[in-house]
Amino acid sequence: MAEQRQYTRFRTILILGAPGSGKGTQGKVLGSIPRFHHLACGDVFRSLDTRTPLGQEFVNYASKGQLMPDDLTVQLWRANVHQRAESYLFKPDIDFLVLDGIPRNVEQAKLLEADVEVLKLFHLSCPDRTELTRRLRKRALKDNRFDDASEEVIQNRFKTYEDETKPILDYYAGDKVVDLDASQPPAKVLYDMLGEIMKLDAWKEIEAKKA
Ligand code: ADP
Repeated sequence: MAEQRQYTRFRTILILGAPGSGKGTQGKVLGSIPRFHHLACGDVFRSLDTRTPLGQEFVNYASKGQLMPDDLTVQLWRANVHQRAESYLFKPDIDFLVLDGIPRNVEQAKLLEADVEVLKLFHLSCPDRTELTRRLRKRALKDNRFDDASEEVIQNRFKTYEDETKPILDYYAGDKVVDLDASQPPAKVLYDMLGEIMKLDAWKEIEAKKA
């Protein structure tokens, strides 16, 4: 009989930043290190079949630079993370969960309280919107991201970030929040993040459990 797995809240590291700040890049690299599991909310939406009503809804919102409704987002995210845990891709007892793209507003942060224990929030800060726009344009070409293709949608995404996502920094205020300069080389941003993570008690606990 399958072992009944009990988890309390997932030990979580959040990566927050404007579109183009490098959340996905950092999340992916961090997630490739043993004991870190990366989950990007945008990838969960992009994996939807666009022929389904839900997939169509995503295309409609994302192509305007808008967020998907909160309840739907959290439900879909929750189903995805549990699926990963059930299939042992993500092992909540020994892995950190690295989230990028969720929570994206304070309402989502509240809804996630039941699921995640936020240990650190890395804010990838890059006030230079010209640099971010340059990165997004490059990504639109390379990764076929329809939501980065037009100037108007990019500007809308920045506005959504300022109005809805940035207030999350106040919601988690305190020593959990670490501001990092996102215009540094990616390796330096990663270095800074790892330095902070290694100071966590949870890091020591997880290290002590290694086989
Ligand atoms: P980026 O990394 O460039 O900021 P994402 O790949 O995270 O963008 O997200 C792409 C789009 O998916 C968003 O513009 C939004 O429409 C939708 N989306 C992703 N995550 C969320 C979320 N947590 N809540 C609502 N909508 C979301």
